[in-house]
Amino acid sequence: MADTGFIPVNEPLLDGNEKRYLDECVDTGWISSVGPFVRRFEEMFAGYVGCRHAVAVTNGTTALEASVRALGIGEGDEVIIPSFTIISCAAAVVRNSAVPVVVDCDPVTWNMDVSKIEECVTERTKAIMAVHIYGLPVDMDPLLDVAKRHGLFVIEDCAQAIGLRYKGRMCGAMGDISTFSFYPNKHVTTGEGGMILMDDDSLAKRCESFRDLCFKPGERFVHDELGWNLRMTNMQAALGVAQLERLEEHLERKRRIGRIYQEALGGMEGLQLPPPRMDYAENLYWVFGVVLDDSMEMDAKGAMAALREKGVGTRPFFWPMHEQPVLRDMGFFEGESLLVSERIARRGFYLPSGLGTPLEQIAAAAEVVKELF
Ligand SMILES: *Cc1c(COP(=O)(O)O)cnc(C)c1O
Repeated sequence: MADTGFIPVNEPLLDGNEKRYLDECVDTGWISSVGPFVRRFEEMFAGYVGCRHAVAVTNGTTALEASVRALGIGEGDEVIIPSFTIISCAAAVVRNSAVPVVVDCDPVTWNMDVSKIEECVTERTKAIMAVHIYGLPVDMDPLLDVAKRHGLFVIEDCAQAIGLRYKGRMCGAMGDISTFSFYPNKHVTTGEGGMILMDDDSLAKRCESFRDLCFKPGERFVHDELGWNLRMTNMQAALGVAQLERLEEHLERKRRIGRIYQEALGGMEGLQLPPPRMDYAENLYWVFGVVLDDSMEMDAKGAMAALREKGVGTRPFFWPMHEQPVLRDMGFFEGESLLVSERIARRGFYLPSGLGTPLEQIAAAAEVVKELF
């Protein structure tokens, strides 16, 4: 793929049964959401994570929005989210007329600082959204404890955490409802796609109904609620099944990429690397992030430009939710200041971590980083 010399930040790996299953869709004419791969993908995925129900949807963003709605969260309710995350998390709350309340992240794991959650709980709090970031899980036990004591729902955003374990438990099986994304930079991809998992029967029914315009069984074109069209196509699900068949290899490859960077960059001054493990998890290295020490004159923007010049693709870290112009303009987060998120947003970025990128190129990227700093 990439023999232009430039090492892209991501490339998918599609060398299993992807083509064969796609051919099957075209040959049989089953290309819409009404096709056998959708159910098969849902069953395989639910079985793998260990949940009773799976609802395949169009992407990870809509999965979050439908999940918040399925929990009955709306006007006047508050949802606690990490500030250091993707806009999809805040959007899912805001689009349901609820209020996002942000928590800073931990300076070592870059995940939600769970010691700061309880102070955000009010009478209006309905849920905590736990987002597993970059390859390590949120420290879930303290979070689940706060949720339990205050009667809050837990939504797990596992877009970056397929196959990641926390104290042996699978991410996506610890909360009330969990969401996944199959965008091509995720380690199971369907091009575009998402999944919602849950054990609760009525939550599953609600998500299935939202996915399909809230058509009513028996009276199809009479609607009691407004839904969306969030249906995944059989072609996407065909890719998903092929990808799931290779998941163990994909996870192992992510970890190999992580080890290559750790070995090349470990011990370098001025550069903070992700921890290979915490006492509750082994890093999966969904991406390999780095944060420049304050002693370094360069910020992330400067470093990324320099690396680009040397043929290494990068991507900036998330920009904190409390610093998003669109959310500030809506009146959220006035006067909010969360120093860790603000700092790593300016000093962090991630390196090529794609499953489809040859490991020699990963090693080459690591060497370029080493030379630059
Ligand atoms: C990718 C991602 C999403 C959004 O998924 P899409 O499929 O791109 O809509 C949501 N949350 C996290 C943490 C993500 O990494």
